[in-house]
Amino acid sequence: MPDPSQRDSFSSSRRANQLHQMLDAMPAMVAIVGFDRRYRYVNGQYRQFVGLAEQQILGQTVDHVIGEAAGAQALAAGRRALGGEVVRLEGWVSFPNRGRRFIRAVYTPHRAGSGRIDAYIAFLQDQTERHHTEAALKASEALKAAVIDGAFDCIIGINQAGRIIEFNPAAERTFGHRREAVLGRPMIDVIVPPEHRTECLAGFTRFPDGLRRIIGHRVEVEAIRADDTRIPVELAVSEVMINDQRIFTAYLRDIRQRARFERELAQLAYEDMATGLPNRTQLLKLMVDIDTTSQSFTLLVIDLDRFENIQTSFGQEFTDGLLVGLSSRLRDELSAGDHLARIGDHTFAFLVADTHDAIVIENRVDGISAVLRTATTQTGAAVFLTASIGIATGIPGRSKPHDVLRDAEIAANRARQDGSRHVWFDQSMQDRVVERVRLEHDLRRALESGDELWVAYQPIVELVTGRLAGFEALVRWQHPERGLISPGAFVPIAEETGLIVTLGRWVLGQACRQAGRWQALRQPGAAPLFVSVNLSPRELDEVDCFERWKAIMEICGAEPGWLKVEITESGVMQRPEESLSALHRFKGLGVHLSIDDFGTGYSSLSHLTKLPLNNIKIDRSFVSAMHQSEENRSLVRIIVDLARLLGLDVVAEGIETEADKNLLRALGCDYGQGYFFSKPQPADKAEAFIGGDVPWRDAVDP
Ligand code: C2E
Ligand code: MG
Ligand code: MG
Repeated sequence: MPDPSQRDSFSSSRRANQLHQMLDAMPAMVAIVGFDRRYRYVNGQYRQFVGLAEQQILGQTVDHVIGEAAGAQALAAGRRALGGEVVRLEGWVSFPNRGRRFIRAVYTPHRAGSGRIDAYIAFLQDQTERHHTEAALKASEALKAAVIDGAFDCIIGINQAGRIIEFNPAAERTFGHRREAVLGRPMIDVIVPPEHRTECLAGFTRFPDGLRRIIGHRVEVEAIRADDTRIPVELAVSEVMINDQRIFTAYLRDIRQRARFERELAQLAYEDMATGLPNRTQLLKLMVDIDTTSQSFTLLVIDLDRFENIQTSFGQEFTDGLLVGLSSRLRDELSAGDHLARIGDHTFAFLVADTHDAIVIENRVDGISAVLRTATTQTGAAVFLTASIGIATGIPGRSKPHDVLRDAEIAANRARQDGSRHVWFDQSMQDRVVERVRLEHDLRRALESGDELWVAYQPIVELVTGRLAGFEALVRWQHPERGLISPGAFVPIAEETGLIVTLGRWVLGQACRQAGRWQALRQPGAAPLFVSVNLSPRELDEVDCFERWKAIMEICGAEPGWLKVEITESGVMQRPEESLSALHRFKGLGVHLSIDDFGTGYSSLSHLTKLPLNNIKIDRSFVSAMHQSEENRSLVRIIVDLARLLGLDVVAEGIETEADKNLLRALGCDYGQGYFFSKPQPADKAEAFIGGDVPWRDAVDP
């Protein structure tokens, strides 16, 4: 039980009052506890902490007020204080109304007026919040250190004076410096290459514009390492204020790998792998650059002739070696400002800066041609090369690089077609290209609809008797806007685009049906009429050429013996064996084979004898030249004799006059075809010839 008299005597004393006033104002919880473990005094903060009024506390025992656990701790300390000791404590204490709190406490003896210890005073501070903050702070410091130490990026802390105050392990690894060795040294001296130091220092001294200028940006710079090697780094800087001091943190990333990767990508995008020369894209960029400096320039496109042949014969490795040697020698032909590029498998481009001068350019062409003529392989073997060179000029601000390149390529194509060494571009060439594209488009449409195409038939006549022997089927195109277009204008386009395959099969189908109908009309006992159909070399190259033609013949009910297949002399030259084997299969089936335009392809006879031919058609050019000289006449005679020797029939094309016919007959030619007999006619008109109504009857000797 509390002893009220003792409490009263204590609290009534003046000294006690003074003390209490002082303790009331303390920024701590204060309690005075006597030997009897009962409270004699508590200040406002203490009351507030335990959540009780003064009269509920004073005179009560400590464990009663603050619970057994906290009470036991407090009394243990209090006992020591009562023994004269000043006890300092810090730690977690559990309170019934408060839960666990972190308490910092000082227990000190309280002396009565006599100097005797009569109680202890406990000063307590609830430090839970601060303890949390401090712990968090410590954890965050540790975390920061871990982040900095474990970062992949180099982190360098720099003070306002530009000296290093932090240098993390990544920085140590990247720059090859030990942290201890660089702390306190000017950052500039450590990682900035000497030639940039002054400039960098100037930036620093111009603070706040120096380092701050790059704050918030990523920049790529060059840094130097302990072993004096340079590396590209990406740099970002942040700034914080600590105790009124500006602290900069530089984050540096070693981008050697990325830089290498980017370089390789750029190489892939802009360089030809085999020769290391700029590629087509890079050439166009170079031309744009030249264009913006308003220089005139000339572009030469050098298209190597027969390159595919060389490649097929000798292989890729050989041609790669050849190209490497060639490009290095062509490079020697470059003057300052010129560029060489490889823009296609067998195509180089030579960009001549600052001139349109024809003499200068033709000199370049001479130089280039000389290099080609003396090309060698990597093993030193000589290879004689020629090229078709197209030349186009660029006028700054007026001609787009793409257009100039296209023009030069068109001209190179032209040079190839004409067999000339070099050709300057002119606008008519471009017009022709546009025209071709338009025709190709229209031809596709015509083949799909089948409405605009038809077949004309030109009679082929036995010269001795004047008897109609057969017809040649010749395709015609009635264009809806342009009228009749000659095969000479669209067959080459069809060949280039592959449309000839569909076109040829269509003509074959028409001709077979027509042949079937006509056999029934011929006079009894007369030999079957044949129809000649032209087979383009491009069709012959199709693997299933023979099968497809055979199928069409069957579907259309044509016997193989009615059909003659005409293939041009140039068409059979240089064909691989597989293509020529189709001809043997035609022959095996009973189809007749004819060499068209004979004499124009310079075929070697030995080559022709290997083919399963039935006849040759002497080209029109021989027929028209025949009257000019005895020499020309004897040429025709030789062809006819030769054909005889090989057991071949001879047809003469382009017989336009009676004189032509008579001469050819005299020379021993078997058959004739030409305007003298009849122009190619629509099927119904041609049909009249079968009934015997022929315009040439009178002209044939009985
Ligand atoms: P080609 O096969 O040599 O046909 C003969 C060409 O000479 C035809 O020209 C014919 O009309 C023409 N011609 C005939 N007699 C005379 C004459 O007395 N004087 C003159 N100046 N010319 C005469 P066309 O019909 O213009 O055909 C030209 C070429 O187009 C053909 O030459 C042939 O190579 C090709 N061609 C025509 N139709 C076809 C076809 O269906 N398929 C294929 N692949 N080519 C075809
Ligand atoms: Mg023909
Ligand atoms: Mg012909």
